[in-house]
Order: sequence, then C-alpha cells, then structure tokens
Amino acid sequence: MIITMSVDASNKEIERVIEKVKGFGYNTKLFQGEKKTVIHVWGVTDKERLMKRIEPLPGVEKLIPILHPFKLASREFHPEDTVVSIDGRSIGEKEITVIAGPCAVESEENLLEIAAIIKEAGAKFLRGGVFKPRTSPYSFQGLGEKGLEILARARERTGLLIVTEVLSEIDVPLVSQYVDIFQIGTRNMQNFPLLKTVGRFKNPVLLKRGMSATMEEWLMSAEYILSEGNPNVILCERGIRTFEKYTRNTLDISAVPVINHFSHLPLFIDPSHAAGDWRYVSALAKAGIAAGADGLLLEVHTDPTVALSDGKQSLKPKNFNQLMKEIKKIAEATGRTV
Ligand code: PEP
Ligand code: MN
Repeated sequence: MIITMSVDASNKEIERVIEKVKGFGYNTKLFQGEKKTVIHVWGVTDKERLMKRIEPLPGVEKLIPILHPFKLASREFHPEDTVVSIDGRSIGEKEITVIAGPCAVESEENLLEIAAIIKEAGAKFLRGGVFKPRTSPYSFQGLGEKGLEILARARERTGLLIVTEVLSEIDVPLVSQYVDIFQIGTRNMQNFPLLKTVGRFKNPVLLKRGMSATMEEWLMSAEYILSEGNPNVILCERGIRTFEKYTRNTLDISAVPVINHFSHLPLFIDPSHAAGDWRYVSALAKAGIAAGADGLLLEVHTDPTVALSDGKQSLKPKNFNQLMKEIKKIAEATGRTV
C-alpha cells in the first residue's frame, strides 16, 4: 500500500500518519520527493481497515493499493522521474546520456585512443569491461584489476566517467573504488546476492535486462537493489532471445514506453548487444532515442577486426561520429538535447 500526502502536509501530520500505521503492526518507509511525500507500507493484511482509519487523517491525499510486485521501482510509488546525479552529470533528465567504449579494456593505449574519440563526439561516459562474462571459458576473460587501473587513468586524463561490469559479489568493493557506475550484465540480472551487494554501495547501477527476462522480472531485480538503500538504478534494454537468428538478440523497443509507464527509473538502450552486427546498431540506437530512452550504451573500437571481444558489433569512430550527429536531431525533435 502507498499513502500519498497532500503537497501542503506538515511534518507533524506526516509523523502522525506513520505512527498510526505502525500501530497496526505494519512497516513503513518514508520517501520525500521534490513535489510529493509518499509513505510505503509493507505487509498489509487488512486493507479496508487501514484505508478507513488513515484516509480521513489531516494531510493524507489518498491510499493506493499497489497492483504490482515491484514497489520502490514503481511510478505509483514515485511519480516523478528519477534523476541520477553523478559528479556534476545527470542521467534521466532532458539531456540524453551516451556511454561508449570498447567491449573490453584491451590496453591503456587503445582505451585512451577510443576515449579521446568518444569524448570529442559528445559522449560523457566511457565503458570497458575488465571482468568479461564470456560464453566460453577459453575466450579472453578481461584484464581484471589491471584493467580497472587503466580505466581510472582514462578517467583522470579525459574527465569521462567510467562504467564497468561487476561480475561477482567479491569484486564489488574493489570495483567501487575505481569506477563511477557498476554495470550488471544480462547473465547476472537474477544474481540476487550480487544485486543486494551493489544495493549497499553508493555507485549508481546500470542494470541490464536478462536475455530471457520479462519486464516484471527485470523490475523485481531493480527492486532488490533499491530495497537495500541504493536509489540510483538505471535500467538497460539490451535485447532478448527470440526465434530470430539474423540479429544476436531482438531489441525489445516496446520496453521503452512500457518501462517509462510503470517505472520512474531512467532507461537506456544497448543496441550493440541487441544487434550483434555494427550495421544495424545506428538504426536501433535512433529508434531507442525516438521512443524516449534516456541514453545509449554503445560499443566502439578503433579497429573492430582485431578487438578481443564483440568486434563484429562495434562501431568504428567514423560511424559513431555520424550516429552522434543523427541522435542530436532526434533529441531535438523530441524536446531533448545530447
Ligand atoms: C557488455 O556490455 O559488454 C555485456 C557483456 O553485455 P550483456 O551483459 O548485455 O551481454
Ligand atoms: Mn560486449
């Protein structure tokens, strides 16, 4: 159950409502947004009684029974869009955020070269995996801590903020020291201990949709992070498994309006892992922005033919630059900027 308080409700009135609800033996959590104060109530067994007693109290606007299993991720609970603020940059506002870089950090020289290119084109965040979740244990697994050091140096040199995947609970404290945003990959979307762990850290979390997950399961995974106290979750649609074989995954563009309807969390599109082929990446990226996505996660490499992972789907600098120009036009057409 959610209790929304009227805009002019006083602190005293809010406290009184919480006290009354607790008197019924239920747990509460208070969320004070810019415009609205909302009280989340858990474990309600007698809705009617609660409504009858609480609704008439001064300052109460209305009581809303929650229809979905996700609560903290729900727009019912948090009507305003969440804006993730990080080091002077905001994600989820009018400005579209582009995170770009290689699939994996391969060397310092190569990463710095890519970082300079994406920065020049307007990206604000640099991506690069150092713990790679490869399908085969014989494929390149990433540089580990050495890769984190390289990412940190790229941040120092360019001012770009860093996004990298954290694969395991044990690595969370280490990765947290080096990077700005944790990425949780598709294969770990339901690794609940990992979700709970990142939920206890301050770094925002880019949570990719599981390749076979429903939107509700995805939002429940976000709920795991939010319920541990980390409010900064960014969702990322990266394509789901379907019968189609001409693309690596099928970008579920409908996730954009549906998630925006049900949730206040910012939503990104990763057209690289959806398409699996660089030739389709730009079209999907533009579709995502046109549909209302808050940002893009893109793989870019200076020489995709020698990339240690995902070269086939990586954009060359020239194509990335072109895409950035086109996105600007789509952003303007939809009342936003890049
Ligand atoms: C990645 O971003 O490099 C990655 C491994 O993504 P996903 O988890 O979506 O496959
Ligand atoms: Mn990749």
